[in-house]
Amino acid sequence: MSKYIDRVLEETRKKNAGEPEFLQTVEEVLTSLAPVIDAHPEYEKASLLERMVEPERTIEFRVTWLDDSGHYQVNRGYRVQYNGALGPYKGGLRFHPSVNLSIIKFLGFEQTFKDALTGLPIGGGKGGSDFDPRGKSDGEVMRFCQAYMTELYRHIGQDIDCPAGDLGCGNREINYMYGQYRRLVGASEFGALSGKSVGNGGSLMRAEATGFGAVYYLCEVLKDAGESIEGKRIAISGFGNVCWGVTRKVAELGGKVVTLSGPDGYIYDPDGITTQEKIDYMVEMRNSGRDKVQDYADRFGCEFHAGEKPWGLGADKVDIMMPCATQNDVKIESAKKMAANGIRFYIEVANMPTTNDALEFLKKQENMIVAPSKAVNACGVAVSALEMAQNAERLYWTAEEVDAKMHQIMTGIYQASKEAAARYGLGYDLVAGANIVGFQRVADAMMAQGIF
Ligand code: GLU
Repeated sequence: MSKYIDRVLEETRKKNAGEPEFLQTVEEVLTSLAPVIDAHPEYEKASLLERMVEPERTIEFRVTWLDDSGHYQVNRGYRVQYNGALGPYKGGLRFHPSVNLSIIKFLGFEQTFKDALTGLPIGGGKGGSDFDPRGKSDGEVMRFCQAYMTELYRHIGQDIDCPAGDLGCGNREINYMYGQYRRLVGASEFGALSGKSVGNGGSLMRAEATGFGAVYYLCEVLKDAGESIEGKRIAISGFGNVCWGVTRKVAELGGKVVTLSGPDGYIYDPDGITTQEKIDYMVEMRNSGRDKVQDYADRFGCEFHAGEKPWGLGADKVDIMMPCATQNDVKIESAKKMAANGIRFYIEVANMPTTNDALEFLKKQENMIVAPSKAVNACGVAVSALEMAQNAERLYWTAEEVDAKMHQIMTGIYQASKEAAARYGLGYDLVAGANIVGFQRVADAMMAQGIF
């Protein structure tokens, strides 16, 4: 591996000790870039990697809001404007008690490459707060969002930084934040936030985009493997918005999602989550705020496995594994089970759902195809960029228009990743290919814009 990469990794570890998630993603991305770095000695002279791993700007702020019992609550807010070489910083806001700087930096670093992969003019950023939306009333969520935006508004804008949702931050939260932004700047500057509700500046298909896009990508993988999604049984984790999109599209194309998971365990439904009633129930379960997936098993009379993940299911029950929940959902023990069980398709959907050792292990399995989340889940942010384009044009596109672009973007990402890996002699390596394409686009723009 290139000595330059080794040196940058060592410096990054020293500078960012105590930020494990961030270091995990930097290691994963940088180690896969060796052939590109070796082919471009000018990058080292321009300290390109050192500049890329350092966010352009990190904003940390206090968020004070009034709860329903009349007490003032204090949370910490973040926005990391990671890399703006390709366009306005773009990426979601995560509201979850686990949020800290390491998590926001890992998400921002990933986002930079993901956004570049879409081929659209967007840079990478990410933000959030350690606010826990679970169990909060609507009024509390509104006051938190208003307080969050009261600080954030000065750092964002349609040509500066356009945040969107992520875990714990959906339509409702984005709408509240957009309302506060509009009041503060005194203008209908729609493009400063994406993921707004339809009819409130939001794009049709944004809610479906991440899940549908993941399935479009999967279909490309299957096509190249000489197979189709019809009849395929898919295990997913989580039961939120992304799962809803994946489940719907898989059902529409004749496959079936057979598991869901939550903090309490996983459910296995051999008939598949294919009916409208079951899909609607997923949404109900999410909106209940109970954060329990056992409710599904109770309602539809299927198996519930308390405290377990679905990754140990054998090839007699599952053909494709798609982690859709959160980071580090699949560790080495789960990866070993998948390999021993003869699972052939491992398609990441959530951001960094696999630990680095587990990912390395899975990539080494001869009969396993591995696809990386920064490519597979890129359709969400891509439709956010399309939302910005619609806002700039002051009009709405139809669902069919957006869906056609989603197909085009996801096919483009798959093809570009596949070709890049082959060009650098790495064979059919979708993980390295995605890193290389994303990196190359950001690198070209940064080199062209001069050193600063
Ligand atoms: N949070 C989503 C992501 O990880 C969406 C970001 C966006 O739409 O800007 O890509």
